[in-house]
Amino acid sequence: MLELLDIQTFYGNIQALKGVSLEIAKGEIVTLIGANGAGKTTTLMSICGAVPPRSGEIKFEGRSLADLSPNEIVALGISQVPEGRRIFPYLTVAENLDMGAFLRGDRDGVKEDMEYIYGLFPILAERRHQAGGTLSGGEQQMLAISRALMARPRMLLLDEPSLGLAPLVVKRIFEIIRQINAESKTTIFLVEQNANLALKVAHRGYVMENGRIIMSDKAENLLTNEDVRKAYLGI
Ligand code: ATP
Repeated sequence: MLELLDIQTFYGNIQALKGVSLEIAKGEIVTLIGANGAGKTTTLMSICGAVPPRSGEIKFEGRSLADLSPNEIVALGISQVPEGRRIFPYLTVAENLDMGAFLRGDRDGVKEDMEYIYGLFPILAERRHQAGGTLSGGEQQMLAISRALMARPRMLLLDEPSLGLAPLVVKRIFEIIRQINAESKTTIFLVEQNANLALKVAHRGYVMENGRIIMSDKAENLLTNEDVRKAYLGI
């Protein structure tokens, strides 16, 4: 469904991605793990068009994403949940969700999806008239994921959903990620520093170091791999 071929991405003179290739099949949950500064966020930014690669190719369902704007990429079916959540703090929960659907014209479908989301996260239904900025960190993460889902994506890109959240909240968010994948067949690309959790929810994983993919395998194999355990699982 998504294919990255030898991607090189720069910030000015700094080369953040040094030839990244990976692929994600329809229906999969794939995780990208790695230390701080490895290039995980840059990989997502390259896919969603925020920091276009200088060379290499990104294809979504066989179509090149080169020269497409971030909005056009969303319209193709790829939505991102950025690191740090970035919801609209002064808009209500319901208005934040509406913003996620701004490219859609099917009002009935939008209403239906909003009800589905309120079913997934009942706390958001309770708080639908409350300003986003007054929600707890975990609730804001739920809202950020929900806002991305309102675009009805076929692929969801998640950047560090566990960041700064209490363990119980993280557990709930990861259960929901699995549920979204199972129920709506949304393909998920999950970037995480919490490798242990990410590998438990994912089907496959890639390990990134210094702008390169250094390993890829089924998640269950990475979880038991000695090098991965030492470097990323703290075991
Ligand atoms: P983290 O988990 O800390 O977000 P990461 O694996 O997502 O790390 P990136 O944020 O993709 O890593 O960073 C990859 C490299 O690019 C790092 O060396 C980082 O310092 C650099 N970098 C990231 N953003 C910028 C920027 N806006 N300008 C310059 N360099 C950047």
